[in-house]
Amino acid sequence: MLALSANGHLPKADYALFADTGWEPRSVYQHLDRLEKEIAAPAGIPVLRVSSGNIRADALDPAHRFASMPLHILNEDGKQGMTRRQCTGEYKIKPIKRQIRELLGYPYPRRIPKDVFVEQWVGISTDEFHRAKDADVRYMRNRHPLIDMGWSRNDCIAYLTSIGFADTPKSSCLGCPFHGNAQWRHIRDTSPTEWEDVVAFDAAIRSGNARANAGGNPLLGQAFLHRSRVPLDQAPIDHVTAAEWAALQQGPAEHTAVLEQLEEGVVDGCSPWACRGDAEAVQDDVGLAA
Ligand code: SF4
Repeated sequence: MLALSANGHLPKADYALFADTGWEPRSVYQHLDRLEKEIAAPAGIPVLRVSSGNIRADALDPAHRFASMPLHILNEDGKQGMTRRQCTGEYKIKPIKRQIRELLGYPYPRRIPKDVFVEQWVGISTDEFHRAKDADVRYMRNRHPLIDMGWSRNDCIAYLTSIGFADTPKSSCLGCPFHGNAQWRHIRDTSPTEWEDVVAFDAAIRSGNARANAGGNPLLGQAFLHRSRVPLDQAPIDHVTAAEWAALQQGPAEHTAVLEQLEEGVVDGCSPWACRGDAEAVQDDVGLAA
């Protein structure tokens, strides 16, 4: 959308916002730098990088309030669960809202008059139509220009390729537990230092929330980044195991969709205003604590 705007296919945007969790893959930061230099700056569109901190460092800091990532949990009785996902709200939506209030001239906690709002473009394509959602505040009105243009993901890729951005990477935290096997393999096979980083993080969160542990509320079970609930450096990321199939209890009709999710990760991933919602059963820190 930034390129479409810069190149005159969409109206000129006033700003482009990037919510930085502090733990994106190196390729995403490199891509953003290039986008900013080659596309946004020449068109006079400022790219604002907004942040609520570093999600990786915060998760491991006993002194920091933990905005939980959706970790895969293995309880002491063998039952599986997931921690509630709070990170998208904390690390993406919150800093974007803060920045928008400032741009509007009404920083928190000033009341924003009814008729003051921004039009916010969210880059949802036609093949993920169901992700298009309204903002939850009156001062932001969401629009979905790609859907208005009838553009699918393939149309976006074709356009990016035509302007020399064929290698546009997917944005998400390096160690997001929503990754499928393909994303884990990509990290392992292309970036040994980033693989080392996620493996170390996976080991460090085994006992759950650093702050809860420090506060005497240890996790009664174990937390993992990979859905198999096996340490990442031993997890079956090269194939779908029989146990994974069995655990899913899916009939043959669902196999293709399930296989795609195991490979490519949670279909809808993580994006402000386009989240997959709390579709899965969740288990919060209270339920996990002593
Ligand atoms: S990419 Fe994953 S870990 Fe990062 S904010 Fe989104 S859901 Fe949380």
